[in-house]
Amino acid sequence: MFWQEEIEVISREELQRIQLYSLQETIRRLYYNVPFYNQKFRDVNLKPDDIKSLEDIQRLPFTTRDDLRENYPYGLLAVPREKIVRLHTSSGTTGKPKAIFFTKKDIDQSAELIARCLIMTGVKSDDILQNMMTYGLFTGALVMHYGAEKVGILVIPAGPGNTERQIALMQDFGSTCLHLTPSYALYLAEVMDSKGIVPQRDLSLRRAYLGAEPYSEETRIKLENMLGIDIYNSYGLSEMNGPGVAFECKYKDGMHIWEDNFLIEVLDPDTDEPVPEGQEGEIVLTTLKREGMPLLRYRTKDIAKIIPDTCRCGRTHKRISRIFGRVDDMFIVRGVNIFPQQIERVLMGIKGVAQNYQIHLEAYDKMTVKVEIEQDFFDGNIEKLLALKSRITEKLKSEILVTPQVELLEPGTLPISEGKAQRVIDNRNL
Ligand code: AMP
Ligand code: ZN
Repeated sequence: MFWQEEIEVISREELQRIQLYSLQETIRRLYYNVPFYNQKFRDVNLKPDDIKSLEDIQRLPFTTRDDLRENYPYGLLAVPREKIVRLHTSSGTTGKPKAIFFTKKDIDQSAELIARCLIMTGVKSDDILQNMMTYGLFTGALVMHYGAEKVGILVIPAGPGNTERQIALMQDFGSTCLHLTPSYALYLAEVMDSKGIVPQRDLSLRRAYLGAEPYSEETRIKLENMLGIDIYNSYGLSEMNGPGVAFECKYKDGMHIWEDNFLIEVLDPDTDEPVPEGQEGEIVLTTLKREGMPLLRYRTKDIAKIIPDTCRCGRTHKRISRIFGRVDDMFIVRGVNIFPQQIERVLMGIKGVAQNYQIHLEAYDKMTVKVEIEQDFFDGNIEKLLALKSRITEKLKSEILVTPQVELLEPGTLPISEGKAQRVIDNRNL
């Protein structure tokens, strides 16, 4: 099933033609309406008419998170303020947040993209979506909400937290789809388990959309088994509308990125040169349809690759792999580059490991992985406990090439997160 079949299965040639037209249009609007971009173009001696092909995008300047912060609040608007109908801000961890603005048309367009995504996973008019992302300044919940309403399904604006109430909502209203972060999904599964709720028996859930933070295939499999549902990966960032940038189809083999709306480049983060298709690099995105606040070559800092083949579902929009991590998430221990994602992948693939973990870094590169394990392991059988500990240590060592301290904890010991989890606690520079 398709939401907008003509555009979802469009030929590559036609898609590229639309992309070039939209890119040129975006550039003209930025050049004439946004002093920041006008200056950037002058700095490199470029005029809008110089962009004649999609490859010419490489001549354009990048936009960074700092650019958004420096132009906070209204500096990057490409339309008069009166045309803006919604503000979102992005979860900046330091300093000023980033402000993102939507015109009516932008709101509508972002909802259209979500509608494509939901229909692509098999959503039908009798589905009920429990939206467990944070409502408010974040894009996550509202953008999904509007998209689901566009499809015409019932949306329960639950927001995150209060897990018992969430379960009650699922029971009372028969929710079939969930939208939440992977770390909250892990916690939800744990709470259901501890309350003796068997989702397959007691609930009507069919699928969940997980995004907003990296997670591994192992976590997907674990959650699919615990909840008895299909889990679809959902990628987006506030700077690009929020959710609906790239989404998995029912084959769950990479996320289709809506290329009529976003021009994707995958660059080597060190040289800023494009990497060959199929190779990992930093995702750099240009908005092609946005009216209120178009962005050129936005450095997402997210690492992923393009999956070269075409998809069995018939959609011609390229797929990106799971996000491996963010450039900034990488940390170095004893000279080795490590992404939290690698640790998650190992842990979630080991039988006996429960749902929560944290990585602690202390002075002199001491690294401790704190991991919750299933309650049965605390029945007094020390040997069983030690065997699990050494299995975890060995598997981590073979993945990350350094041997961490491993601390096994009872379920419920580590802080839970309803939104994005803080997985790495780095105390090395305190
Ligand atoms: P925000 O600034 O709150 O909009 O968060 C956007 C960021 O969340 C992205 O740049 C990614 O780093 C991360 N993110 C969003 N969706 C996913 C996903 N499906 N997998 C991994 N990381 C994601
Ligand atoms: Zn597909």
